[in-house]
Amino acid sequence: MESFEFIVVGAGSAGCVVADRLSAAGHTVLVLEAGGADDDVFVKAPALFAGLFQGPHDWNYNSEPEPGLFGRRVFLPRGKMLGGSSSMNAMIYMRGSRADFDGWSSEYGATGWSYDDVLPHFTASENNAEFVDSFHGNEGGLNVTARRWLSPHADAFIESAVEAGIERNPDFNGAEQEGVGLFQLTAKDGRRCSAADAFLRPALERPQVTLITHATVHRVVVDDGAAVGVVYEHEGALHTVSVEREVILSAGAYNTPQILMLSGIGPAEHLAEVGIPVLIDSPNVGQHLQDHPLTILHWDTDQGDTLSDLADPALFEQWMADGSGKISSAAAEAAVLWKSDESLDSADFQMVFVPGYFWEHGWRRPTTSGLTIALSYNRPTSRGSVRLRSADPSDAPRIVSNLLSEEREVDAVVRAIGLVDRITAGGPLAKALGERVNPGRGVGADNLKDWIRAETQHMYHASCTARIGTPDDGVVDPELRVHGIRGLRVVDASVMPRITSGNTNAPTIMIGERGAAFILDAADEAAAVPRVSVSAV
Ligand SMILES: Cc1cc2nc3c(=O)[nH]c(=O)nc-3n(C[C@H](O)[C@H](O)[C@H](O)COP(=O)(O)OP(=O)(O)OC[C@H]3O[C@@H](n4cnc5c(N)ncnc54)[C@H](O)[C@@H]3O)c2cc1C
Repeated sequence: MESFEFIVVGAGSAGCVVADRLSAAGHTVLVLEAGGADDDVFVKAPALFAGLFQGPHDWNYNSEPEPGLFGRRVFLPRGKMLGGSSSMNAMIYMRGSRADFDGWSSEYGATGWSYDDVLPHFTASENNAEFVDSFHGNEGGLNVTARRWLSPHADAFIESAVEAGIERNPDFNGAEQEGVGLFQLTAKDGRRCSAADAFLRPALERPQVTLITHATVHRVVVDDGAAVGVVYEHEGALHTVSVEREVILSAGAYNTPQILMLSGIGPAEHLAEVGIPVLIDSPNVGQHLQDHPLTILHWDTDQGDTLSDLADPALFEQWMADGSGKISSAAAEAAVLWKSDESLDSADFQMVFVPGYFWEHGWRRPTTSGLTIALSYNRPTSRGSVRLRSADPSDAPRIVSNLLSEEREVDAVVRAIGLVDRITAGGPLAKALGERVNPGRGVGADNLKDWIRAETQHMYHASCTARIGTPDDGVVDPELRVHGIRGLRVVDASVMPRITSGNTNAPTIMIGERGAAFILDAADEAAAVPRVSVSAV
């Protein structure tokens, strides 16, 4: 049977980094990815990412009825292709605040993950086209840059926020996260730079990397307390491949806990319910799921320079020719990072300005031109879960995000809408805004909270389902080793002890860097003792 030193499950934001770093150090790596190539033009075209939803490159999950959202089921897209969700996302480059990582370290026991510890791992990946300073890297594979097309309404939003008392911030990933400014994107020349572009393609140049696409991992094979291989499905058949050193699960915050549970590593009671023999009773697998609730406000506008005409073929032709124009805009242009409560150690809101409508995942298409301010609540306390529907790996997991299950979270959104009212009341933005259509005229102080619960979705930032912690409160130790099993790590957004207060792609790539460094340290230390190999599926 073929065997590799390392098997990486999932070629997403973190998995691509791990494959790159381990192979660069000379190790043999097998990458198993359930999706296929990332060759759809919608992957490369920043403004068209929502066109990937529910297509062949999307896992296309839906939540169970959400108690905090009047029992609505919420659509949960995830990238199923090379690059994973980094090939589908809105490309915002936002690391989170210093307090996020210091909190991981001081409140969650994640030794080695303070801001000062992780900063070098952020900069190692980064090739920033604008900022050259101690907060940024300029030699990594991940291209980070300003957008090529910017609506004048973004400047108006910034000026109005400044008039409302918000300070300008030229760099949300620099010394301070708070303030108002423009986003940077993971892009180059007007086209997406995914984790596959940044890390996997260079890794595939090395002979020691093997990639199999359309390979869905069903479970990890464990022998005598150690991961010795994986079972995966490819072209309708089951295959087993053995590993000499480690299996690394990088399948994302929904699928990594699914694979752990299918392998018998999870809450014993739940595994018994679905008929899976328990290998390790690990009660926190699939627990503590977090995402950012996103509450979206819209206005009509009679002004031009919006993204309302994205379907115009001339815009697409322009972008195809030289990567310029509106298609190179990834919708979200500017933001206010703001504390709704002064006692907080960092901003709890990211107010995202879009020069167009972004409504119901981009599906609802109003006939008029519009502008959007979307409120991402960046410090949620609600936690949800991922469970198995059955022992069948092809069944989608049962996901409950539990968004806004705590009243204090809705109160915070109400405070944020108060700031939006101040920003939109005066300054240049007010001149561009027509009628506010969402919330519309029927919504007032007495029913605003109901409107919030009826409209809120999430920011596509699932995380924390195999979090760093002790065996009592987590799934992996601070070096990302799964408690109770040798030779098995989780390296993806699942390991965050608490969701970062910002978009999650950059921190997940950092987790890939940090995880790879731990793995390489261990590989250097370990005597090359041959492991038991797999004997049966
Ligand atoms: C629509 C959308 C918009 C977003 N916008 C932004 C943004 O603007 N900025 C930002 O920072 N973040 C954004 N995010 C979030 C960010 O992209 C994710 O947090 C990040 O990509 C997660 O990385 P990951 O490595 O944990 O998982 P993923 O990147 O999702 O990778 C997991 C990989 O594992 C594969 N896989 C899963 N199960 C199996 C299996 N059984 N066998 C084999 N392979 C498997 C998947 O197909 C996938 O390729 C967005 C996400 C989405 C979906």
